[in-house]
Amino acid sequence: MTAIKEPSFRESVDLMFNRAASLMDLPPGLEEKIRVCNATYTVRFGVRLRGEIHTFTGYRSVHSEHMEPVKGGIRYAMAVNQDEVEALAALMTYKCALVETPFGGSKGGLRIDPRQYEEHELEQITRRFAYELAKRDLINPSQNVPAPDMGTGEREMAWMADQYARMNTTDINARASVTGKPLNAGGISGRVEATGRGIQYALREFFRHPEDVQKAGLSGKLDGKRIVVQGLGNVGYHAAKFLSEEDGSRIVGIIEWDGALYNPDGIDVESVRQWIVKHGGVSNYPDATHSAEGAEVLEAECDILIPAALEGVINLTNAERIKAPLIIEAANGPVTAGADEILRKKGTVIIPDMYANAGGVTVSYFEWVKNLSHIRFGRMQRRQEEARHELIVSELERLDRYLGDAWSMSPNFKAKYLRGADELELVRSGLDDTMRIAYQSMREVWHSRDDVEDLRTAAYIVAIDRVAKSYRAKGL
Ligand code: GLU
Repeated sequence: MTAIKEPSFRESVDLMFNRAASLMDLPPGLEEKIRVCNATYTVRFGVRLRGEIHTFTGYRSVHSEHMEPVKGGIRYAMAVNQDEVEALAALMTYKCALVETPFGGSKGGLRIDPRQYEEHELEQITRRFAYELAKRDLINPSQNVPAPDMGTGEREMAWMADQYARMNTTDINARASVTGKPLNAGGISGRVEATGRGIQYALREFFRHPEDVQKAGLSGKLDGKRIVVQGLGNVGYHAAKFLSEEDGSRIVGIIEWDGALYNPDGIDVESVRQWIVKHGGVSNYPDATHSAEGAEVLEAECDILIPAALEGVINLTNAERIKAPLIIEAANGPVTAGADEILRKKGTVIIPDMYANAGGVTVSYFEWVKNLSHIRFGRMQRRQEEARHELIVSELERLDRYLGDAWSMSPNFKAKYLRGADELELVRSGLDDTMRIAYQSMREVWHSRDDVEDLRTAAYIVAIDRVAKSYRAKGL
């Protein structure tokens, strides 16, 4: 038997796009205009390290400029290549349209194994890469705003934003050139955990619709659901932590680079995370069985599967054996187009990446707005809100005294009600609202059209329609 060839990541995204576009009535030519990647910049630069010059290859791809700035993370990994960066940039376009963040789509990558370098070396490399991008307006608060992705985080974003600021000393909006910065460098509360939080909010919204839950052959709420998570990086860790600690779900499997942990009674996410920090992997973790063939646990019996690592992990070789009735794509592109087809036929419900992991870019949007307005969210209204609440509470206290034993305020009411919302609460509220509304816009298409079988196609239809509308408004 000859092995069936899997399309590349970018081809896979295009195939999914085409599937949705074929169900739409787009003007001739517009479909192609939306699908294709506008430009990809490749840069090779040298950095003098340890007495010799090291050459690095980096990319920044701009998929669609129907809205500007364009937005998307920068990834540090050895596997980075042009095809991958273009696929990820395309997903950013659709993601931003679906969750209504006013950005076009972009993505960047640097071919590097960050673990091979000291912190000061990484700073040198990052600043040089940022310099190359900023020089061509590929980092710019009004044109192109990077953010973290795999292999990068707050630290790299602070270096990049600072590099832009050094090159643009009179730009009052310099801080808005990059998002995902630490709080003390213009970041926003709640950005680090935003993508994981978004997964939690997405699942909560899914479980608010019994009809949808039933489509996945499940019932009830998140409480008690058995979850397998692949990748305990920033996204997988936060998603698994919140779902187990706040929603009563049970994490039965954790897949990492050095194998997988499985325990039907549940695994403590925080202690596994600490174990990884200390030992570098999950091997020898005491409270679960370890299997060296990590990928096999993707096929384990569970209610919800959360791939939160790399693209293409559910593919033609294993799709048929995936037992989870519900998959939520925390990573970008974890299911290939071929696997998507197989899973759809099996009736597996997939909450697609462009929606599921949009929490990151949503909170990036809040950070960008905060940077442009030069004021922390809640700073003006918080105390005023508290003063107004105080008024009501003092009236209630009067009533309390008057009614004696017949009525009294609930124990924690006063403290809870008095407190005005701080930035973190506002960020969570904005994120929750975004995830609910975006889900509803997808499900509306999913349920109202007979020719739309799955949430992914519905998501593409909503996103493509919005991008098409902004192109039309521009006169294209
Ligand atoms: N890299 C993240 C993503 O894939 C975040 C992008 C952003 O915040 O701009 O969505």
